[in-house]
Amino acid sequence: MEENLRIATIVRKTDENHTDRSIIEEAASILRAGGLVAFPTETVYGLGADALHEEASGKIYAAKGRPSDNPLIVHIADETQLAPIVQTVPEKAKALMKAFWPGPLTIIFRKSDVVPRGTTGGLDTVAVRMPEHKIALELIRVSGLPVAAPSANTSGRPSPTNASHVYEDLNGRIDMIIDGGTVGIGIESTIIDVTCEPPMILRPGYITKEKLERVIGPVAVDKAVTEPVSPDVIPRAPGMKYKHYAPKADFTMFSGEADKVAAYINRLAEEKICQGYKVGVIVCDETVDKYQAGDVVSVGTRKNDITISRNLYRVLREFDNKKVDYIFGETFTDDEFGQAIMNRMLKAAGYQVEIVT
Ligand code: AMP
Ligand code: MG
Repeated sequence: MEENLRIATIVRKTDENHTDRSIIEEAASILRAGGLVAFPTETVYGLGADALHEEASGKIYAAKGRPSDNPLIVHIADETQLAPIVQTVPEKAKALMKAFWPGPLTIIFRKSDVVPRGTTGGLDTVAVRMPEHKIALELIRVSGLPVAAPSANTSGRPSPTNASHVYEDLNGRIDMIIDGGTVGIGIESTIIDVTCEPPMILRPGYITKEKLERVIGPVAVDKAVTEPVSPDVIPRAPGMKYKHYAPKADFTMFSGEADKVAAYINRLAEEKICQGYKVGVIVCDETVDKYQAGDVVSVGTRKNDITISRNLYRVLREFDNKKVDYIFGETFTDDEFGQAIMNRMLKAAGYQVEIVT
């Protein structure tokens, strides 16, 4: 962006448990005036704008460099904000809302006429979520608006899990950043489409298939969740076709028995370092001592998946900042919440996985 097109980005810090009301009011008035505010949610930081104002949500696409056919998720703070923006609320959606809202579950509805196509990437449906984060909820409530908010990163980079990630990508392009510290979950919400039968998971997240099925019975999973999307197919969640969550380095994951994977990665990392490359290695607390070559980082413990999801994007960004050329990583289990973590890692790695025997 040209220097003279840059705007002054205000950064304000507040605590989720003692939210500063004047900061929320300042942010809410920016949203009401059609501006852009980045704020924390329990999943990742979102970049908010008035969802019903086509020009305002258009600014999100410009700031992020986001393709215009990639729809935005609309955030609400209470259920009274839902009826005006959707045509109907199916029974299964009601059950899901009761079980998981506020929380990291996005539900796709048929949109009403008040939602501009500029917000929904041209679709007749709208994605809606009620976040479980006091700053996000208060901001939406005080603004009195449904707030369109995709992840607050430059399109194609890993989603931001703290305010400095947002600053790195969007300083000078947005009006305000609310710094509410590091987020809890660290990867984006689960998306479920209830306009089809059975309902279909379009993106896995913290609310797993198993948890959803306990509430509404069988759900399907979109192919784009587990397989690379071919360029001529438009997935049901258009965002899944883009190279998301991508570090700048060439990222490959290795699966197999822990000792063999470690020996293989150690050898490969040494080889690349000898050739003059910088190497990052992504492992876990249980195996970190087995690694000697490259910049070795544990993302968390396999005993608690959320420690891994919380750190993953930060680690990928740090490797970007260190200008790492190659990232070698372990794979993680893909059951329950692990499926969401592996989905993001596979996308980051461009589906490069080698089996070590
Ligand atoms: P982000 O908020 O950056 O995590 O991106 C939003 C994700 O939600 C993208 O993958 C979109 O494709 C998806 N999404 C938003 N609205 C819809 C919709 N109406 N139908 C299907 N997917 C949607
Ligand atoms: Mg995103």
